[in-house]
Amino acid sequence: MIIVKTIAALRQILDHQRNITQTIGFVPTMGALHPGHLSLIETSRKLHPFTVCSIFVNPTQFNDHQDFDKYPVTIDKDCLLLEQHQTDVLFLPSVVEMYPDGLGLQKPHYDLGHLEMVLDGAHRPGHFQGVCQVVERLLRIVQPDELFLGQKDFQQCLVIKKLVGIMEDASSDLSAQWPAAGLKVNISPTFREPDGLAMSSRNARLSESARQIAPAIFQQMMMLKDNFLLNDAKSLITSATQNLLNAGFTKVDYVEIANAATLELLDAFDANIKMVVLAAAFLGDVRLIDNLLIN
Ligand code: AMP
Repeated sequence: MIIVKTIAALRQILDHQRNITQTIGFVPTMGALHPGHLSLIETSRKLHPFTVCSIFVNPTQFNDHQDFDKYPVTIDKDCLLLEQHQTDVLFLPSVVEMYPDGLGLQKPHYDLGHLEMVLDGAHRPGHFQGVCQVVERLLRIVQPDELFLGQKDFQQCLVIKKLVGIMEDASSDLSAQWPAAGLKVNISPTFREPDGLAMSSRNARLSESARQIAPAIFQQMMMLKDNFLLNDAKSLITSATQNLLNAGFTKVDYVEIANAATLELLDAFDANIKMVVLAAAFLGDVRLIDNLLIN
């Protein structure tokens, strides 16, 4: 595996790969890698002869400074895991490399519409603008054929699909020097621990007792999934929220059922649309998110 820290060095390698007509799969991450991340690398490797992974803890997507400061960093272990999984290139840029003009003055505005007004959009102001900012930059740098994302971050997947749509729309300012079509977005299922807890880099920050409580989020989502056909969303959400607090969660940002394509919130079961349960809750200062498709 080649590790590169600069955009110039990465471009040189990727230009060469494209010249020999190799397709490129790209897996962006924030590091502290776990089997969920590695499943994305494996999928990319099956579909493309060349796989690039990036590790960059993007400051502009953290609305909470403490969350950024405490984000786990395990670069040496990550390199070993990526090497074992035969990743071709690890892109490991610095903040200055990604944001040469600094962080302060840039106020991106991506028109994400409803996607930015609900769930994590509402609870983490500016978060998805930061996500779009870094993903747009990374996509322009890597210019992959396929982008690999995890369903674990369900709303983020919809946001990034929307970003790609904006970049590919010829009438948008973002379409400059970006091909009109062709970037595939591949979404992999969520990797879970045996007790149901979705794997997440933030799980490393859970105390032993919090780790015991954490699977309740999956159990409550299952409860909603199993009971939604015969019950209204409101009563189920009230029960699930109370159950999470009773289990030991310190704060519940949301438990909701939504249209999986649009994230419009739903009150009642609708067999004609794909539905998803989404939840975000805190154990102390660790915020966990998860989701489950209903049908
Ligand atoms: P992150 O490092 O948290 O930014 O995640 C990088 C990518 O890995 C994102 O596309 C995530 O959705 C994906 N990912 C994170 N956790 C999991 C998981 N448990 N299963 C599958 N993919 C995941």
